[in-house]
Amino acid sequence: SLFNVHVTKIGTRQVQGYVALVRDVTEQEKLQAARRDFVANVSHELKTPLTSMKSYIEVLQEYPDTDEETRKRFLSVIQNETERMVRLTQDLLQLSGLETRQEPFRAGLINVSEWLSTAVNRFNLSAKQQGVTLVSEPYPTVSLRGDRDMLDRLVDNLISNALKYTAREGVVRITAAAESDQLLVSVQDSGIGIPAEDLPHVFERFYTVDKARTRKFGGTGLGLAIAREITERHGGRIAILSELNEGTTVTVSLPTVEVR
Ligand code: ADP
Repeated sequence: SLFNVHVTKIGTRQVQGYVALVRDVTEQEKLQAARRDFVANVSHELKTPLTSMKSYIEVLQEYPDTDEETRKRFLSVIQNETERMVRLTQDLLQLSGLETRQEPFRAGLINVSEWLSTAVNRFNLSAKQQGVTLVSEPYPTVSLRGDRDMLDRLVDNLISNALKYTAREGVVRITAAAESDQLLVSVQDSGIGIPAEDLPHVFERFYTVDKARTRKFGGTGLGLAIAREITERHGGRIAILSELNEGTTVTVSLPTVEVR
């Protein structure tokens, strides 16, 4: 807006150049601040489980006579924290590989109907165990050009979030529609929803709605950042709608290709 105001008011070449430079500096500062935040976040996210593991290990070492039940409980804390760190580092590696374009893009022809129904099938069992109804439908017989592994990860992240934040008796619905040259895929849940003030931030790296729910559900705050990165690498867009205590819908639009 700074840019527009100055250009329309004065409109000389010199001033335009000056304003563009100012904007460039603020962009750079923002990027640097984001990087600092990111490093601080990663360090914190790794330090928390490590600190807790360290103290549990110390107790186990110092008190070898600790009763069996307590020992088991401590070991299971250590195991959970280890799994959390493994998940976190996996997500981090994925995200940085995507962002730096180091992860190779293996483009292939994707049969949308097969891609989506296979993805839904991967979650049938865990949905059933969780008492959540997973609803699919016949998907459009269109094709995409894309990286199958990445596209699988994209829908997996969305479906696993939907299941994670939906209680027993809830419904998770995966729909898709082809419109001219776009495919719209939606993952809709009847879960806990996201407060309006958090909604604009959920695609940011490490953004979690509240620490309590993240701890409980074991998230890393990277799932949606990864989903957005993958969508954008495919020339698509991702959006989220949510109502607290009503549910959430994430919609991804991806360009389709004509197959002759
Ligand atoms: P996480 O790995 O913690 O789930 P994400 O990046 O996938 O991180 O999501 C960011 C935040 O958005 C999460 O902390 C969660 O609170 C919220 N969120 C994401 N998807 C949903 C959903 N379907 N329903 C409710 N909250 C969600």
